[in-house]
Amino acid sequence: MSSENKIQLVRGMKDILPEDMGFFLTIEEAIRYRCIQSGFKNIDTPVIEYQELFERGIGGDVDTVSKEMYRFQVGKNNLALRPEMTVGICRSYIEHGMASLPQPIRLYSIGPCFRHDRPQKGRYRQFHQANFEIMGSRDASIDAQIIYMAYKILTDLELEDRFVLNINTIGTPECRKQYEEELKDYFLPKKRNLSFDSQGKIESNPLRILDSKDEDDIILSKMAPKLKDYISEDSKDYFNLLLSYLDELEINYKVNDNLVRGLDYYHDTVFEFLDEDCLSVCGGGRYDLVKILNNQEVPSMGMAFGMERLIMHLKDSGFLPKKRDKIDVYVACIGDTAKGKAMKILSELHDCGVHAFGAIGQSSMRSQLRNASKFSAKWTLIIGEVEVRENAIILRDMDEGRQERVKLDDVIEKILSLIDKKDLDKWSLY
Ligand code: AMP
Repeated sequence: MSSENKIQLVRGMKDILPEDMGFFLTIEEAIRYRCIQSGFKNIDTPVIEYQELFERGIGGDVDTVSKEMYRFQVGKNNLALRPEMTVGICRSYIEHGMASLPQPIRLYSIGPCFRHDRPQKGRYRQFHQANFEIMGSRDASIDAQIIYMAYKILTDLELEDRFVLNINTIGTPECRKQYEEELKDYFLPKKRNLSFDSQGKIESNPLRILDSKDEDDIILSKMAPKLKDYISEDSKDYFNLLLSYLDELEINYKVNDNLVRGLDYYHDTVFEFLDEDCLSVCGGGRYDLVKILNNQEVPSMGMAFGMERLIMHLKDSGFLPKKRDKIDVYVACIGDTAKGKAMKILSELHDCGVHAFGAIGQSSMRSQLRNASKFSAKWTLIIGEVEVRENAIILRDMDEGRQERVKLDDVIEKILSLIDKKDLDKWSLY
């Protein structure tokens, strides 16, 4: 709670309210549909891991770890809330010996991540990622397949026109090391002209200066040595092959020499789908984290969508999710005996797949009917003492205001005759 003891959300956090859940579920379904059809298996790793895992995997000097990671200690354990999902999945790959499974292995997860960054539009401290990894193969076709998946998911959500695929190669870790040395030599004499943030990155992570939004940094970055001049022939061939696959798949892209991505573990391919404000909805690239963590070669390619950013665009596009939790029938009753019968009717309606509720409170029939309208029920079933005695129930059509008396034994059948079969919500274990 805040210092004034006010009940309020922690800054940078966001409730996903019932009215937003329809968007969340729509996206989740679109993702699961594309994942299942292309052999992705669902994995869920904990949100809590050892701090050291992220320091070794992502890099201790990377902002995501050094500044933004939620750290806490329990007993002797230094723990962290995951700022992204890939490291935890690689930890799980190593721990469960997934290298012995047929490779490449395709894994996806949807869940929360945490970064203590400055909250702003589309940037939260708890947000949800839909994360995808293909592990155990270095083949440009895998890179193309991951990017194609992202494109198909955006197309399924009818959002593809809102984003430009930016793509780049950052070469092998060796090319990058050499380039980083050149960048250090370039920025050091100009240190005083850089923003305070970028000054601190010259030694630790000079590549990140190229990502800075500060005006002076941007001007200096424009004249800096170019990464593309340090890329090996092998990496260039790999990248060109990837671009030819994207051409074949008819996906538009923009080769963006300045795209480097935030995390140290990437090499070769990096990409982001950016909106018109240059906000990324999906980003990814090639990495070998299993090698970094466990010295075992498992060349991999991954990406993550930000669910909140997808929701933001879906809302902005005017899309309205299916109303899954609409109420068909409200059951109103007067008296305890009637309430008992009403609960029995509700239970039978539920078993038949009808969305229904009611049988609550002691209020007057008028106020129960008002309630039924507020919940937008299409029909209300009314049962009072007289109806109990006569073994009947009143069925009211809420739009038309018409009522009819139905025998209690026939009421379920009557309701089922009014509802379209496809609207019945049935679930079964098999
Ligand atoms: P990253 O792991 O930084 O490559 O992020 C992958 C995706 O997660 C981005 O493209 C965003 O859509 C989303 N994302 C990253 N950080 C945040 C944040 N702080 N708030 C909301 N979404 C985020």
